[in-house]
Amino acid sequence: MIRVAEALEIVRRACPARPVERVPLADALGRVLAEDIASDVDWPPFDTSAMDGYAVRVAEAARGALAERPGLVAAGDPPPPPLAAGEAVRVMTGAPIPDGAEAVVPVETARREKGAVSAEAPPSKGEHIRRKGESVRAGVRLLPKGRRLAAPDLALAALAGADPIACHARPRVAVSVTGSELVPADATPGPGQLRDSNGPMLAALVRARGGTATVRRAVADRPDAVRQLFEEAGGDVDLLVTSGGVSAGDLDLLPEAAEHAGFEMLFHGVAMRPGKPVAFARRDGALWLGLPGNPVSSAVCFQLFGAMALDALSGVPEPGPRFLTARLERAVSVRGRRETFRDAVLTAGAGALSVCPLETLGSHDLAAYGRANAAIRVPADAESLPEGALVECLLLRPLP
Ligand code: AMP
Ligand code: MG
Repeated sequence: MIRVAEALEIVRRACPARPVERVPLADALGRVLAEDIASDVDWPPFDTSAMDGYAVRVAEAARGALAERPGLVAAGDPPPPPLAAGEAVRVMTGAPIPDGAEAVVPVETARREKGAVSAEAPPSKGEHIRRKGESVRAGVRLLPKGRRLAAPDLALAALAGADPIACHARPRVAVSVTGSELVPADATPGPGQLRDSNGPMLAALVRARGGTATVRRAVADRPDAVRQLFEEAGGDVDLLVTSGGVSAGDLDLLPEAAEHAGFEMLFHGVAMRPGKPVAFARRDGALWLGLPGNPVSSAVCFQLFGAMALDALSGVPEPGPRFLTARLERAVSVRGRRETFRDAVLTAGAGALSVCPLETLGSHDLAAYGRANAAIRVPADAESLPEGALVECLLLRPLP
């Protein structure tokens, strides 16, 4: 059996970045930028006021009252005429300031009497003025190629006029759960049946990692149904993610059906707990990630191999799961010599991350999984890790 790191590398190599397309900025969240973005304008785009107040020269304001120019300059107005000698110009936040102005005296500290304005305290040079280009210079790179676009990046792209924007196409993922026992979440299970919890979870994980997810009907544990799944794979789907049917039972039909349909098995079985039977295969441009059915196994395997596949297909330059280092609050011990991922609660304390393993009944224990926000990685050669040890953690949900 191969190790987790080897399996991750196999997934990475098998997943080419999807083609580049120009998309509306409104559809760019979570996509990976395919070119450097420079702004075509300075930011701020002109000398502007940071306050509602009076644009003045500092020496004149220090000497005494200034003559107030009638009217005011609002955000969106064209630049006003230059400041005359001894003059104060009323400006609103975001308004262009007149040439010659050296500071803005906020209304709160200005006294205004019969067309004259004076400052309670003499302003210093540059106070409350934002200079053209002080934050961003036109032509300078704002966003690097390869960045996975988050909300702040959309703000920068919009500032730069990058709409539409060149990104890699999103990975197109089909999610199929398998198991004759499964009924949808809105159904009442009959005898021997249970609700499909993997389908909704996996679709959400795919979307959170920048992919599009199509959820198919549950596939029964019948050879014809399972074969059809693989015969239909590919087309406009980059990655088929399944759950269930990959271990060694009589009704674990997926690996054989995949091979029968012409898939080349890149791995089947990884030395890890949970998730040992996980499978990954390829046929031409079509990829298959076969996750075990147990919910926690499915989740952990997706957070490792699914994350790698989606990142790589999305065009992330350094794809794959990220681990955070945290200090163990309690010792953990594990069974056997397999890399183990243990449900845990990760806490961001004062300046440090700490992590506490959860008691879990096993890979079916959805209640423990529901309390966890991370999984502690216990290396294959460690049977236990002592309290206080620094450990790697896989995030299962975003930290608050
Ligand atoms: P399998 O990997 O198909 O042997 O499934 C292992 C266990 O996970 C069985 O107890 C299944 O009933 C359960 N299971 C499989 N698929 C799902 C699913 N989609 N949602 C919830 N439990 C599942
Ligand atoms: Mg099954």
